[in-house]
Amino acid sequence: MSSLALLHAEQLVTLSGPKRPRVGVEMSELAIIRNGGMLVRDGKIESIGPSDEIEQNVGDAEVVDARGGVVMPGFVDAHTHLVFAGNRLDDFERRARGETYEQIARAGGGIWSTVEKTRAASERDLLADAKKHANWFLRCGTTTVEAKSGYGLTVEDELKILRVLRRLKEEVPLEIVPTFLGAHAVPRKLTPDEYLDLVITEMLPRVVMENLAEFCDIFCERGYFDIDQSRKILSEAKKLGLNLRGHVDQLTNSGGAKLMAELGGTTADHLEQTDEQGIAALRKANVQPVLLPGSVYALGSSRYPRAREMIEAGLAVVLATDFNPGSSPTPSMPMVLSLACTQMKMSPAEAITASTVNAAHSVNRGDKIGSLEPRKLANFAIFDCQDYRELAYWFGTPQALAVYVKGGRVL
Ligand SMILES: [Zn+2]
Repeated sequence: MSSLALLHAEQLVTLSGPKRPRVGVEMSELAIIRNGGMLVRDGKIESIGPSDEIEQNVGDAEVVDARGGVVMPGFVDAHTHLVFAGNRLDDFERRARGETYEQIARAGGGIWSTVEKTRAASERDLLADAKKHANWFLRCGTTTVEAKSGYGLTVEDELKILRVLRRLKEEVPLEIVPTFLGAHAVPRKLTPDEYLDLVITEMLPRVVMENLAEFCDIFCERGYFDIDQSRKILSEAKKLGLNLRGHVDQLTNSGGAKLMAELGGTTADHLEQTDEQGIAALRKANVQPVLLPGSVYALGSSRYPRAREMIEAGLAVVLATDFNPGSSPTPSMPMVLSLACTQMKMSPAEAITASTVNAAHSVNRGDKIGSLEPRKLANFAIFDCQDYRELAYWFGTPQALAVYVKGGRVL
């Protein structure tokens, strides 16, 4: 039995509370213990409370002194595109010069450049890059990420990405939740309906047979997959036992949020253009909105999703990075907290709830992670600050001093 006693945390941000996603004013309740302590045995939290009480039961446990630091559950990043080859540096510079998406695509940039590089890359090379990315997440205090395929767009290349995710999970301490996003774009030379057929008749059955994903996702947007096509793919995925997520209402309000509600999706992601009808539909069907302010920021846009209205409507809001080489090249949840507070007027406490306990529920792991409570996994980070609000306040500076997964130090 390995055991660990964490003592003297300036603020131990537990997020203990009801065993479900937090809504409304609950999102502001972080259940902080000042001068807090926690006893960890065999990777799980055994007890948590005032440091003085925990200290009495230390026994032979290894002691970690968190004096002067804030201790929190590891961030759960509920929306990433972690596996890809190369980068989009040229697009980045062209955008800075004021070129449009169309000009960038004509110059050989855009999603296609990433698809081509990812198809050409070996499983080994993709894994090496993915390990580097995984380490970036850990350094920001993130201990679980949802990660999507979607840069292959052929049967073999989509499966290759999902297999890389499976190997990554075995080789790094970062916990990975895999999602199949075959319907990320329509490959060249195929019509949308031809590709839809390929996703439904070949990709989905293989993904399920090889047990490579927990969720199915789609990009529902003008020029990509429309509402009817998205409905077809997601309905088929649901029949095969996958849970549903969706990139919806990002560039246009196409009714994507309503579609996710209709299909009983777990999450509806992006939602920059979602109106009050979409918000009401999500509320009625208990779909969690996953907001991705990093992509709005990195694309130089100013149309952020309506987080305040969503919280006031009682939605269990989630924040995530949307880590990807094109529109959101950041693994940093603290940066996302900063954007949530400054651009979407969420409070620091709401932002922390959205990126821990609510995010954990959105990847079906609310019973294991996302808060620091007895019997949950000891996934936590010690930050170099004395008040949790500093995480969102000092933006752009790394504050994680140490990161633990299942009670073991990984950073
Ligand atoms: Zn995305």
